Amino acid sequence: MKPRLYMIIPCYNEEKVLPITSEMFLEELNLLIAKDKISENSRILFVNDGSKDKTWDLIKELSEKDEHFIGICQSRNRGHQNAVLAGMMEAKDVADITISIDCDGQDDIAAMEAMVDRYHEGCEIVYGVRSNRDTDTFFKRFTAQTFYKLLNKLGGEIVYNHADYRLVSARVLKEFANFKEVNLFLRGMIPLVGFKSTSVYYERHERIAGESHYPLSKMLALAFDGITSLSVKPIRLIAGFGLGVSALSFIGIIWAVVATILGRTVAGWSSTVCIVCFMGGIQLICLGVLGEYIGKIYMEVKARPRYIISERTWEKDEKAEKKK
Ligand code: UDP
Ligand code: MG
Repeated sequence: MKPRLYMIIPCYNEEKVLPITSEMFLEELNLLIAKDKISENSRILFVNDGSKDKTWDLIKELSEKDEHFIGICQSRNRGHQNAVLAGMMEAKDVADITISIDCDGQDDIAAMEAMVDRYHEGCEIVYGVRSNRDTDTFFKRFTAQTFYKLLNKLGGEIVYNHADYRLVSARVLKEFANFKEVNLFLRGMIPLVGFKSTSVYYERHERIAGESHYPLSKMLALAFDGITSLSVKPIRLIAGFGLGVSALSFIGIIWAVVATILGRTVAGWSSTVCIVCFMGGIQLICLGVLGEYIGKIYMEVKARPRYIISERTWEKDEKAEKKK
């Protein structure tokens, strides 16, 4: 039987790109249907992430024009990761496969066909991987590379140069629904589900219109989320580092005692200041990292909902679903 595909497309203030890319998504969907690779009742699911512009109105218009377009609206802006999750959970019980992709046309939409082919060959997860980073600035390329390497060293299983363009099967979605954490870093969490996976390579383009919503501050926040959600190694590293510094301090103390006994106690103002500053700095860094983890624990313990849907472009029959 042909699988039912749901494309999941997070949108935040995308009124400039949506009219263009929605056509491209529909074209690809129709192509896949025509080639008998997916079923006719496949859908393009837009997730409006609390946009402040006309994005939601556009999505509603699209859904009236073509039944393949549907949309859900988050009650406020929750961020890209939460928007993708909301879409995945919405599709969980109705789709056989989902493909998450950004709304701005940067990811090559035509790569979906290869992804669906890999699914037909038995893969449950297909990662979209950028074959080049030519469109990025040197700074972005360098920081991204360092980040992927660091994460893998820390025990993560991130696919190099993969962002959030990926196909996952209903089976993976069902298991993934049991991952209840609030701090989301999907590209690090999905590999943990397991099952057979592979990659499809594509060229990443420039944004079609509008501007990126990922300034340096948001990128850093995502990087921190990635590291701390995947690994407790930084905490262990701190413990080891603390031990090392304590050993050094111990040698220093012995040296001070010996110097006193030998009567060589010269006023060592500069060395004292150096040691105090050094220790102070290290302690602050350690506290910062610990704080980051404690903050994460605090968020997890509160277990607030990770997304809240305020509207849909269709009538969802909650009663029928309850009876199921
Ligand atoms: N996005 C979102 N919520 C946000 C920020 C971004 O849903 O708070 C969506 C955005 O509409 C786009 C995708 O996430 O479809 C990626 O964002 P963007 O293109 O700004 O990031 P970049 O590609 O520059 O990393
Ligand atoms: Mg983008």
